[in-house]
Amino acid sequence: MDYVTLFFKAIKGTIDWTWRSITFDVSWYNNYFWGLIVISLVVWVLEILFPWRKEQSIFRKDFWLDAFYMFFNFFIFAIVISGVYKILEVFFSEYGITMTSISIIDISHIPKWSQLLIFFILLDFVQWFTHVLLHRFEILWRFHKVHHSVKEMGFAAHLRYHWMENVLYKPLKVFAVMVLGGFVPEQAFIVHFVAITIGHLNHANIKLTYGPLKYIFNNPVMHLYHHAYALPDSRKYGVNFGISLSFWDYLFRTNYIPEAGGKILLGYKDDQNMPRNFFKQLYYGFKRGD
Ligand SMILES: [Zn+2]
Ligand SMILES: [Zn+2]
Repeated sequence: MDYVTLFFKAIKGTIDWTWRSITFDVSWYNNYFWGLIVISLVVWVLEILFPWRKEQSIFRKDFWLDAFYMFFNFFIFAIVISGVYKILEVFFSEYGITMTSISIIDISHIPKWSQLLIFFILLDFVQWFTHVLLHRFEILWRFHKVHHSVKEMGFAAHLRYHWMENVLYKPLKVFAVMVLGGFVPEQAFIVHFVAITIGHLNHANIKLTYGPLKYIFNNPVMHLYHHAYALPDSRKYGVNFGISLSFWDYLFRTNYIPEAGGKILLGYKDDQNMPRNFFKQLYYGFKRGD
């Protein structure tokens, strides 16, 4: 089959899969569409019942923008990019590079739960590292600014990010899966649902730190400081880069939680220049000075 046919076949496949998810025609544990909605509603109800910043309204600033981003990044963009990823997969396989060709550690013989745990930890680490790069290099930071343009924090801000972030996070995530030989990501849905839940909670207007587990799991207090407008001079490239796990920040000394009042100013210098409109944000970040 030629590349063009493969491209459209993959896109059609993703559209079909998304539609089958919406109409409950896939197994519940693979249903990211309704899974995302259920997790969002549960975390939103928790925000309403136990608000950290009590003066923040239920439909906070940019609530609907963020709600739209959730579906855009998870489904609409996923449909468009699936054709590109299919072409890359076929292109690399023609040169003998497949998902199993660089596996370094074979984990097929260990129990399933420990395979999933290793997958979760490795995936989280490569994302932590990618996130550090997004802050460290101006050319990447331009795209990441969209996520940091949140001025009032709530669960849906989790998935407000530029579509380029999907692309930028992808190489190391694929690499992590390739390295783990014998891992069939069939049960990976558990890892993904756990990651969505932790990510939603990290952005939620709920004061949670998980007690001593704060050294392992990222949490709303720690992540609020990731979004802080003002950072100490010695930390100008950012703090608290953790995605699901805070452990990496404690290990690499990028942790920073000076207090836990929850009322700090969010954003970044010049954040007033970020377009407010979703369609303008789609094209943001590609030119110098953005
Ligand atoms: Zn960030
Ligand atoms: Zn965030």
